[in-house]
Order: sequence, then structure tokens, then C-alpha cells
Amino acid sequence: PVTDDQLRAVELLKSSKRILLTGHERPDGDCVGSQAALACALGAAGKSVFVMNVDAPAPVFSELTALADFRVDSGESLPEHDLVVMLDGGDLSRTGALHDRLARAPSRKLVVDHHLHDGAAWWDEAFVDTSASATGVLVRRLCAHLGAEISPGAARAIFTTLVTDTGWFKYSNTDVETLSIAAEMISLGVRPAEVYGDLFQRQPLQHPLKLAGALARTTYFADGKIVLLDLPLGPDGLAMDVDSDVALDVVRSVEAVEVALVVREIGPRRCKLSARSKGAFDVQKLAALFGGGGHVKAAGATIELNLQDARSQLVEAALVRLAETEERRSTPRTAADAARQP
Ligand code: 5GP
Ligand code: MN
Ligand code: MN
Repeated sequence: PVTDDQLRAVELLKSSKRILLTGHERPDGDCVGSQAALACALGAAGKSVFVMNVDAPAPVFSELTALADFRVDSGESLPEHDLVVMLDGGDLSRTGALHDRLARAPSRKLVVDHHLHDGAAWWDEAFVDTSASATGVLVRRLCAHLGAEISPGAARAIFTTLVTDTGWFKYSNTDVETLSIAAEMISLGVRPAEVYGDLFQRQPLQHPLKLAGALARTTYFADGKIVLLDLPLGPDGLAMDVDSDVALDVVRSVEAVEVALVVREIGPRRCKLSARSKGAFDVQKLAALFGGGGHVKAAGATIELNLQDARSQLVEAALVRLAETEERRSTPRTAADAARQP
């Protein structure tokens, strides 16, 4: 069923001429794919569209960034536009350094997203569905109203959003709509094995050893119910370039593990948390304690502490929340337990 907020989002898109698409820091496949697909649909509808991110998308997304006018923020004033659309995030702080300029821009604002938000509303319209597996699902729903056919490139972009946020259809957010859209994208020419190869099989020779080095830092707490990997800056001052999702997949394969935490040092007194839950443990609430957010089963935060302090505060908080989760488990299940991930 088409909701009112969806129709208002479509109206806002249709009544705008020059549209700026943005998203969260270190944009992932859902963010970049949603931007690329919506840019294609709006472009086909005659709009002038550009994408502005605070961080450059990773090179594995080059097929998608070639589809539209993708720009990286240089800190200068924003080009003229009459609508901002933020995809795959609703809190303006997630746009990093773009935050102030976007907040001050006189343009109208639209959020298209599948996260829980608790910050102040800064938008004119929000098309948010936390039950959607990926923001790309919402973009597909919008495309249905914009009139244009989905191009092969846009199909690949939408397919990328789905596989990114469902862990290639493994996570509990995988549902009928996700798989229906995936099938539709394949019928439009997407070749899943080719997308998989481009996203996951283009690592350099050193990759296995780097991953082994990261995995060697595995520490368990609470009989293995909590697992933590802390990834320090290298001697070159660079963050360890191991994909957190890959490391998280390995440690989550341990039967005892209920919650997996990767905390990566990304600068002086600055760490990035990626948290995943296999069951009732709510990592969104854990991440929120550190100023982050996300979903019940997949969440993250940027923590302004050194690695050692971030690590010890995280473990302490996770142990408290684990005890609370176990207490709740002995009482009847709540609706929150049945909630979804990415
Ligand atoms: P990841 O661990 O893959 O970076 O992110 C997992 C989920 O947590 C994503 O849905 C993402 O939106 C959310 N998330 C990651 N980092 C942050 C953050 O710094 N702040 C907030 N609010 N959410 C985050
Ligand atoms: Mn994302
Ligand atoms: Mn997402």
C-alpha cells in the first residue's frame, strides 16, 4: 500500500528542479546505490541532479558512481539547489562536515531512510520505513511514481543496496519485498555473480594476511557471548583497511557469540564502532550510549576516545546490557525483540 509520506515525497521530488542528494559519512553500498538509482530516475524525469557526500565512495562502487554526477565535499559553499534529499540516514549529524551548510541552505529537505531517528526533525518531509531492509527498497517504491523505466545501471545500484544491507540475503531483514525487487533487478539485466565479484573479489594480495592479523585480535567476554575486535591505527597512522563486515561475519560464526563488536581506531582519540547482534541483544541501544545508532541487530557509532578507553567502556556497557537482555529473556518476548536489522 502506498503511504501518504511516500506520496508527499514524490510530490516534493516532482516539484523540484535542481536536486542535491546526500547521505552518511563513509557511504556504504546502500547509501551509494540509493543515491545512484534515485539520481538516474530523477535525471530521466528531466531533473538536474548531483550527489554530494562528505567522504568519497570506496573504489568498489565505481560502477555506481559513474552513473551520476557524484561529488565529494570540498568544504566550499554548496552549489545552487532547491531540494536536498538525504538517503540512508536521517540525523543531519551523519552528514559530517556537510551538516552546517545543509542546515543553513534555504532549499527544501527530504529524508528517505530506514533507520530509527530520535534527533530533532530538520526536514520538510520524511519517507521513513524502518521495516524496509534497505533504503534502496524505498527508492524502488519512489521510482514507481517517477514514471521512468529503471535503467540497467540503476537496476545494478538497487541490487547493490539490497545485498549490502541484508548480507547477501542472510540477515533477518530479508523479506518478500527484498527478494521480489532483487528478482525484478535480475530480470532487468543484473548478474548477481558479477556484482559479487566486483564488490568482494577484488582484494589485493595482502588481504588474507591483513584479515588474519585483525582476527588474531579477537577477545571474548561473558563465556563468548560478547566478542570484540579492536583494530589500532597502523604504524603509518592509517586505519586498518579490513572490512568490518567481513571480520564480523567470521566472529559471528562462533555459536556462543550473541553480540560482536569491532572498534577501529580511525584517528587520534577517534574510533568507529560496528556492532552486530545474533539474537535479542539490542545493539542500537548500545551504540546510542556512544552517540551512534542504527538498527536492533546492526548499529554503529563514532566514539571520540582513544582505542583503549573506547574498548573498555564498550565492554563494560555491553556486559550491563547483556545482563539486562538475559533478565528480559526470562520474561515474555516483547515486540522490540522481533524487530529487524540493517
Ligand atoms: P556499520 O557497522 O555497517 O557501519 O553500520 C551498521 C548500522 O549502524 C548502519 O545501519 C548505520 O546506519 C549505523 N551506524 C553506523 N555508524 C553510525 C554512526 O556513527 N552513527 C549512527 N547514528 N549510526 C551509525
Ligand atoms: Mn548505510
Ligand atoms: Mn541502509
